[in-house]
Order: sequence, then structure tokens, then C-alpha cells
Amino acid sequence: MTLADRLIRVALGVALVLLLWPLRDLRQDAINAIVRNDAAPGATPPLPAATGAGLPPAARTRVVLIDGAGRDTAAGMAAWNAVCARGLDLTIDVGFPTVSLPVELALWSGRTQQQTGVLYHSTGKPVPPPAGAIPAQVPDAIAIAESHSYIVHSLGFPHTLPPTPAKTLPDKWADTWVDTAVAAVGGPARLVFVHVLRVDTAGHRAGKRSTAWRDAAASADAILGRLTAAAPDARWLVLSDHDHIAGGGHGGEARAIRVVRGCVAGPDVAVGRGGPISVVDAARLIADSVGATLPADSRGRPLAAALAAPVDDDDVLPALPRGRVALAIALLLAALLATGWAAGGRIAAVPWWWPVALIALMLLETTPSLSTPMIYKKQGLTMANAAAPGLAVLAIALTFEVRRDWRRALVAQLALPVAATVAVWIVTGASGLWFGERVCPVVPRWSGWLPPLTIISATALAVAGLVVLASAVLPGSGPSTPAGTSRSDRAAP
Ligand SMILES: [Zn+2]
Repeated sequence: MTLADRLIRVALGVALVLLLWPLRDLRQDAINAIVRNDAAPGATPPLPAATGAGLPPAARTRVVLIDGAGRDTAAGMAAWNAVCARGLDLTIDVGFPTVSLPVELALWSGRTQQQTGVLYHSTGKPVPPPAGAIPAQVPDAIAIAESHSYIVHSLGFPHTLPPTPAKTLPDKWADTWVDTAVAAVGGPARLVFVHVLRVDTAGHRAGKRSTAWRDAAASADAILGRLTAAAPDARWLVLSDHDHIAGGGHGGEARAIRVVRGCVAGPDVAVGRGGPISVVDAARLIADSVGATLPADSRGRPLAAALAAPVDDDDVLPALPRGRVALAIALLLAALLATGWAAGGRIAAVPWWWPVALIALMLLETTPSLSTPMIYKKQGLTMANAAAPGLAVLAIALTFEVRRDWRRALVAQLALPVAATVAVWIVTGASGLWFGERVCPVVPRWSGWLPPLTIISATALAVAGLVVLASAVLPGSGPSTPAGTSRSDRAAP
């Protein structure tokens, strides 16, 4: 090893190790962009075409949304079942992503998450109500929220309780809000919306298999029972905005989380079953019920049309932009070629560590998605620890490979995993962050992989840096040192 070669290895090794910190920050930037930024309002393709009538208007419409309570939970709620039994027992596809504020904006505006551009927005701050929202067209409409009132304050209701979107609820609100809601639904207002939050809260705290979840579902059901009893002759829509994964969490595109139960009962609603209809079809249902008009670009269909042509994944999940996909594929192909060249046909030189790291992550933690809490955690240590078996394989493989040709060894072990990580940054649109753009990198399937792939690549670069550093400073760093040079030189007196 010449002195120059040694110095290059030291410098590169140190640089790769030091990259760990900025790359971790970059992962945090991506998470912040996902949960805080809004996207530009976009277009959404039409839903399957069918003809059929909408619901006729009703004197009083009551909507109850039990946040986070998916189909299986709804099936165990007596008051919810009672509404379904005397009307239409539907499934509703809430679209993507499965986050409360964006879904509720779609429900009350008839415009999908992609159309409003509000994709995640878990800032705890309200957004301006979307243009043409239903509640703004009903002068006496009332919305009442158990908590997280920034959501109901984003929907355009003329009357909203609690009166402000502040995180701190009014004094004794927890004890009085149900009575307030019961009085409102029993009153003359044409439209009343009640947002029950406790099931979602229990899901985030303790997951779906917890006593807390069961208790929350039971008490939410008791509240629903009181509400429906207060206005038995009104038209009711009882639904949810998403389910939770078993351990608690939502946001991803999984059908199990996306397709919820929604039941409509009351005047002019025949007993039946159907769906999945889209959340914007549910918006149309509410609009028809209260005599409101959805915005012109809404894809919401009249109820009978929606029932005649149920929606499928392709109808509700946004497609990835083709240009970004093409760029990502080109990058992956280039990385494959580089890996092939660097490995020189030696099977031991290819990056086996990477699938080991990904499989270990999926087995020891879970398959990442926007629903899995691990991707949001600070520093992402959960993901790095779970991927450790792969990183160990990398350390061992590189230790042997650097003795042959350290440059090629690095390319062979790192090109593909790093390129795949960059490809996911491109596909999700997160790469815009590198250029200072205020993007919201939320797309189906791939956004959940953004944080773990970034953490795993960052940690792998640091591991590679340490191995290269060690190869430069430790004795006996390999047969690439010809006999009679450095080692024997050092041994000579
Ligand atoms: Zn939630």
C-alpha cells in the first residue's frame, strides 16, 4: 500500500462515517415533509361510470364519524349495527392516504386527497375549508368534535364546537361534549356532524388488540346509541375514516385500512348492502341529502350509480408519475451494470447484505408503510437495529473484499442499495427536498420505504467507511500489498 493510497482510504473512510449524521437529518427532513407539507392541488381520474339516482333531500341529516374504527370494530358495535340493519350497509373506500384530516376533507368537499393537495397534514393546525365544501352551503349546519377540533374547523361548518381549533379543549369539554352533541342532533339543524375520536386515540396508544381499544369502541358505541335515539326519524350516515394496523397506526394504502364500514338509514333509504363506494361518493350522498352541490371537478357519483359500479384499488390509488418512475429505473439499471462490473462475476462480491438487512427489518420489526410508527421515530434507530444482521454481513464481506481491490469492493457492495434508496427518493418526489422544494412525498407503497432505506444506506455507508479506514490503518490489510513493500519494509530495522 502506498502512502497516497493509505491517505485516500483514510479520507474516504472518515467521510463515509461522517455522512451518517447529515443522512439521518435527511431522513428526518423527508418525514417532516410527509407529515407537514401539502401538495399542489391535482387532478383525479373519474370513477367507474354508471347511471343511477342520488338520494332525495331529507329534512335532517346526521353524520357520525368514529375515527379509526375499521370494519371489524364496527361489526362488534351494537348501535352501529342497528343503523346498518335498518338501511344500507356499505363499504367505503376512503382513498389514499388514510389520514383523518385529508379523508374528512374529501368526505365534506367531494374532492379526493389528490385534488385538495392535503395529503397528511398532521400539524394540529386547521386548513382553509376547500372551495365548494358541503357544510358551507347549509347555513345551520353544526359540527361537534370530541377532540382534535382542528379537523372539524377545516371543513367549512358555519357552527363548530369546540369554538376554536386550539389543541386545549374548553373546560369540562370531556364531560359535556356528548350532551352537546345529543342536543344538536335532536335539534332542528338540517345537518349535524359528530366526530368521535376515542377509538383512534386508543389505537395509537395501545393498538387494536388492547383493552383500551375495546373500551373505546364500547363507549363510542354507547355514544352513537344516545345520538341515534335523539333523532330516530333523521337520515343517518355512520362511518369511519380509516382502520388501524394491529399494533396501532394508519396512513398507508392497505385495503384493510382503507375500506371502512359506512351505513345509511332513515327516510327514503331502502335496506340493502353494497360497495365499496368511494369517499367522494359518500360526499355526494351527503350533498344530495342536504340539497348541496359538489364542486364541478368532484368525481362523486349519485348513490345508485356508485352502488352499480363499485370502486377498486386502481380507481382510488394515485398512479406514480411516469417520468419519475423512468428516471428511477434508469438509475437502477446503471447501478446493476456498475455492480456487475465491480463484482467481476464473483458471486461473493455482490451485496448479499442488503436483502439480509431488508428481510431482517421485515421479520424483526415489520414491513414499512405509512401506517407503521417506526418510520416516523426520531433517528430511526428501531430500523437500523433491526437491519443489523445485514450490516454485519456487509462488514464481513467488505473486510475480505477490500483486500482484493477496495474501490471495486465498495462499488459492488454499495452501488445497488444506495441507488435503490435514491430511486425511492425520486419515485416519491422526496428528491425535490434536495433542491429546496416544499414537496409532500406521499405516494402509495413507496413512501413508507423512504425512511428505512435511507437509514439502512446511511448506516451501511458508515460501516463501509469503518472497514476502509481499518484497512488503511491496521496491519495485514491484504494480499494486494506485494511482498517486499510496506509490511516487510516496516519489519526491517
Ligand atoms: Zn389517527
